[in-house]
Amino acid sequence: MSEIKETVFSKIIRREIPVDIIYEDDLALAFKDIQPQAPVHILVIPKKPIPKLADVEPQDYTLVGHLLLIVRHIAKQAGLASGYRVVINNGSDAGQTVNHLHIHLLGGRQMKWPPG
Ligand code: C5P
Repeated sequence: MSEIKETVFSKIIRREIPVDIIYEDDLALAFKDIQPQAPVHILVIPKKPIPKLADVEPQDYTLVGHLLLIVRHIAKQAGLASGYRVVINNGSDAGQTVNHLHIHLLGGRQMKWPPG
């Protein structure tokens, strides 16, 4: 387990930094990415400060499933019927910059493969 440190997402959860919130419940928050990489770019995060996917533990399995169902819900609400991409950057090689687990929902344009 990585050391749990305060991140910018902790401040967002506590409403100390304003963001455009798309969805919230007791366990999760979804908001528009500040530097959108697609017409729709939303981050879905757990309120629990899990640093990255590799730190998910068996007791978090339901939470991770919950986050993915939120992604599905938001994608449907956003009208992304022709497709969307879901990304989790895990660790520095993947380009993770915020050490609080987050799922990127990207849509509204044609995606390319392989990603950079
Ligand atoms: O997966 P990665 O860690 O690179 O993604 C972090 C994301 O958090 C970036 O897309 C960045 O634009 C976003 N971010 C944000 N608001 C902040 C800080 C970062 O939306 N205040």
